[in-house]
Amino acid sequence: MSSVSELTSLEQMIQQQVVDRGIRETRVLEALRQVPRERFFPAGSRDEAYADRAAPIGHGQTISQPYIVALMTQRLEIEPTNRVLEIGTGSGYQTAILAHLAAEIYSIERVKPLLDEAFERLMELGIRNVHLQLGDGTMGWPQQAPFDRILIAAGAPQLPRALLLNQLKDGGIAVLPVGTQEEQMLVQVKRNGHELAQSEICPCRFVKLIGQEGWAPEEKV
Ligand code: SAH
Repeated sequence: MSSVSELTSLEQMIQQQVVDRGIRETRVLEALRQVPRERFFPAGSRDEAYADRAAPIGHGQTISQPYIVALMTQRLEIEPTNRVLEIGTGSGYQTAILAHLAAEIYSIERVKPLLDEAFERLMELGIRNVHLQLGDGTMGWPQQAPFDRILIAAGAPQLPRALLLNQLKDGGIAVLPVGTQEEQMLVQVKRNGHELAQSEICPCRFVKLIGQEGWAPEEKV
């Protein structure tokens, strides 16, 4: 159970960081209310959980800023029957939000300790419609494809076209950051046959997407 002060911090976060910045989709706000964000933070940094920024989760990775999680979720336009592929489980926070909105979530993470911790947290919270896999998410999850929605929570050097054309359903939607390692543009992509129609959402900064359709592990540029 969350304490009263945690609930207050959560409500404040939703109002000031999300609603006041224009995110009004009721289902998205409800999902944010249902997920105790502090549970996705390492024990020593839980008082950072409702701050207006990304935060370290170990292994050089970060849990995304609350506003960015809400924005990506809203632009994914999820329907309750959707099957969603998520790339970059990280702490599992975004995964938990998606799990409240869609039918099944398939989430891939390349750092094993992060995946293991995310699994523990999701189980403890009683979230059962999430399937986790260790590996390179840019290769997707062919056995479970095609997906209605794809969310990528790490910065891609360019649009991962093979992934989107092979594993996103026709008419499906993806949301991901694309750009250099210093700055990316968050984009919404709609697949229409062999076309991938992109619309820009806002500039953002994510950790890098590493893999076949991402950055090479040691690439610097
Ligand atoms: N939404 C997460 C953000 C995690 S940060 C959260 O809020 O906690 C991005 C994550 O993507 C990191 O954990 C990183 O290890 C992972 N990642 C990077 N490239 C990946 C790839 N090709 N496949 C799977 N995970 C990847």
